[in-house]
Amino acid sequence: MIYYNKTTQETLDAHQVSMNGLSTEGVRSRQQQYGFNELQEGKRKTIVQLFFEQFKDFLVIILLIAAIISGFLGEFESTIVILVVVILNAILGTVQHLKAEKSLDSLKAMAAPIAKVLRNGQVVEIPSREVVVGDILQLDAGDFISADGRVLQSYSLQINESSLTGESLPIEKMTDAINEDEVGIGDQKNMVFSGTFVTNGRGTILVTSIGMQTEIGKIANLLDSAKEKKTPLQVSLDHFGKRLAFAIIVICIVIFALDLFRGRELVDSFMFAVSLAVAAIPEALSSIVTIVLAFGTQKMAKENAIVRKLHAVESLGGISVICSDKTGTLTQNKMTVQKVYIDKREIPHNELELNNELQNKLLVMSLLCNDSVTADEKEIGDPTEVALVNFGKVYGLDELVVRAQFKRIGEVPFDSNRKLMSTVNQFGDKTYMITKGAVDVLLSRIIKIETSNGIVEATEQQFEQIRNANQSLSEQGLRILAFAYKELSPKQQIDMNDEQDFVFVGLVAMMDPPRNESKQAVADCISAGIKPVMITGDHKITAAAIAKQIGILNDPSEAIEGREIEKLTDEQLKAKVENISVYARVSPEHKIRIVKAWQEKGNIVAMTGDGVNDGPALKQADIGVAMGITGTEVAKDASSMILTDDNFSTIVKAVSNGRSIYNNIKNSIKFLLSGNTGAILVVLFATLFALPAPFAPVHLLFINLLTDSLPAIAIGLEPHNKKVMKDSPRNIKEPLLNKSFTTQVGLEGLLIAAVTVIAFQIGLSTGDSVIASTMAFATLCLSRLFHGFSCRSKESIFKIGLFTNKTTWLAFIMGAILLHVVLLVPALMDIFEVAVLTGMQLMTIYGLAFLSFAIIQLCKLIFIRK
Ligand code: ATP
Repeated sequence: MIYYNKTTQETLDAHQVSMNGLSTEGVRSRQQQYGFNELQEGKRKTIVQLFFEQFKDFLVIILLIAAIISGFLGEFESTIVILVVVILNAILGTVQHLKAEKSLDSLKAMAAPIAKVLRNGQVVEIPSREVVVGDILQLDAGDFISADGRVLQSYSLQINESSLTGESLPIEKMTDAINEDEVGIGDQKNMVFSGTFVTNGRGTILVTSIGMQTEIGKIANLLDSAKEKKTPLQVSLDHFGKRLAFAIIVICIVIFALDLFRGRELVDSFMFAVSLAVAAIPEALSSIVTIVLAFGTQKMAKENAIVRKLHAVESLGGISVICSDKTGTLTQNKMTVQKVYIDKREIPHNELELNNELQNKLLVMSLLCNDSVTADEKEIGDPTEVALVNFGKVYGLDELVVRAQFKRIGEVPFDSNRKLMSTVNQFGDKTYMITKGAVDVLLSRIIKIETSNGIVEATEQQFEQIRNANQSLSEQGLRILAFAYKELSPKQQIDMNDEQDFVFVGLVAMMDPPRNESKQAVADCISAGIKPVMITGDHKITAAAIAKQIGILNDPSEAIEGREIEKLTDEQLKAKVENISVYARVSPEHKIRIVKAWQEKGNIVAMTGDGVNDGPALKQADIGVAMGITGTEVAKDASSMILTDDNFSTIVKAVSNGRSIYNNIKNSIKFLLSGNTGAILVVLFATLFALPAPFAPVHLLFINLLTDSLPAIAIGLEPHNKKVMKDSPRNIKEPLLNKSFTTQVGLEGLLIAAVTVIAFQIGLSTGDSVIASTMAFATLCLSRLFHGFSCRSKESIFKIGLFTNKTTWLAFIMGAILLHVVLLVPALMDIFEVAVLTGMQLMTIYGLAFLSFAIIQLCKLIFIRK
């Protein structure tokens, strides 16, 4: 219903004037006054807090205790070394954390909800958290409401208040003026509340409270829901890490006991066991995932895909079905009118005659039942309607002039469920309702047809002619709108129940060409083992024609309509789903059933959406993808990824990025685990054969806390390899640490251990155990640095390119410099318990470390090719 009255307009005008003068400072002080930032952002950790958090780690605490104990026992050097290493490790951790946090923050800012406010006399989009009391908000279907406010205008404005009241049925909102006249309207009907959303219609509100002062601010703690949860991979890695830590601690206790038994000093044995635990327990696993995800999502954002939920990146690599909207995602959403069907005739778009009354009427109707405008080469509004405005311009009709002449006094806005839009316009002393919409929907509401001979009763034969025209235009991939009207009694208000008993005028057919990238993106999907599916509100034949052009559909039998889905049970749909590539005239409820059917067949499904009712389907999908440009705030909120360019090919790129990011995480973890395995195997070997300790505690701390973290991050930043799209989707249920992964970790760890043991034995042959442990330490450290190159990919480094990841070189060089500083600077040699090595011994270390790298590369060349 239309609740528009003068009183409201006056209020609106008055506020418009006051808002024109609202300064930036004024806005800020009001934000602080109402505590909105506090509600939205929560408390930030300072750098100092973050730094101290690095010491909360269980192993670091044990190290600190060990440092204190050795200090008490007079071993000040050990205390200082441990402290230095732990502090350096904490600095590194803080810097990485801050960097990751910064990337995630910029992602969050990009995905922040927006509000449409009246500022300086114009409607502008601003981040919702910048809304202040006194602002006038414009609300459209699909908008989230970011403040409490009083309704100033309502055009069938309906709000879903379930977040506040639990009631899922939408509530119709009205202005005060009508409120007084209506019977039975509660006192909340003229108010809208923050945290609720618009399901239908439009309106304007005057903001009365924001942030903590709103109803939801008073009752809800939004901060909890805003916390980022750990991703499934992080959870499973934490779980794995804990089990591994337990096993390692048991080993360390055994080694500690054996050392004591062999007469080693208590402090030395204790320090050694603690260091071994630190060296072997991969405590950095979960944080490596965060860092790699943070940098990976940053890259994805630059490529137009904003990830809202980190776990989505893990699932992206497993996607096997992408269900995509047609209009604007696979097509350009740049519509141009091509043909008109009127009075039983198809007429090309530029051959209409203005002095033909019927043709003239269709043109005027297409400008009146229309909210879009074009001015100064700018096109504002729904592309379907912009096409109609441009169509009018071809014949010298200006939409604003026509609209000023035949004033709009009412409307029922378009919604894609109803597939209709209606306006009420004043033609002199007569009032007409003009309706446009999907042909099949509008035809069922037609009782008369206007022809050049006047208005006649509609016959079945005439309907058949219109349907045939619709069919033949649709087969050309054109999108068709039907136009109809009826006379109303003066000042009659309308709602959707009035959309019937119309006089049919004609059809307008428009072209929305596929995006240039769509065909290639569809082909990429198919070669990556992903099934692309088109789901659209458009007509089946139009959809099938476009789907065929871009390679989604091969045979017309692969297209079905929403109403056919309704006749199928869930089981029947599941049996059929793999053979359907195009779903037309689909409603949001159908979308959920389609997603579920694919999921029940064991698929990981991505689903796009933009409308207010798409929320449940977006949530049901493994990856809900919202449109950044045309999508409603509700759709964005329900999604795990937002496309800033609404482009299907961006989803395919995101899948490719998701696959690469997952591989990078896997490779980083492999690097950490295989290096740790190498270290522990060497220690076990020495213990088993009653040899002297191969490493001093400080060696293990040095490698594990400093030199190892550099390549681990560098591997995570490996540039994305296009070849990932040649593989099939990853089986998401398969654990990362599967048999083949753990075998590789074990074998590579064994190789690193072998070269280290050789270096150790060569050192022992000199008769000096310090030279031996220095050689073992240097070989372990350097071979792990070399191993960083090998872990970049399952393929040989020569295939992926030696210099394609410069950060791995940086990590290697920095690690090697650190090692050489310790080996060569006399002042540090004592602290790090290393001996002076001869040139030959150094060369032996380099040779052995390189040997482990060369063997792995050779194996890759031989086996990966096979
Ligand atoms: P997709 O789901 O691929 O984005 P779509 O944009 O074609 O598809 P809707 O916007 O739901 O889907 O439109 C469904 C139908 O409603 C269209 O086929 C058209 O007939 C009709 N329609 C679209 N826009 C309007 C409008 N502004 N006014 C009236 N009818 C419209």
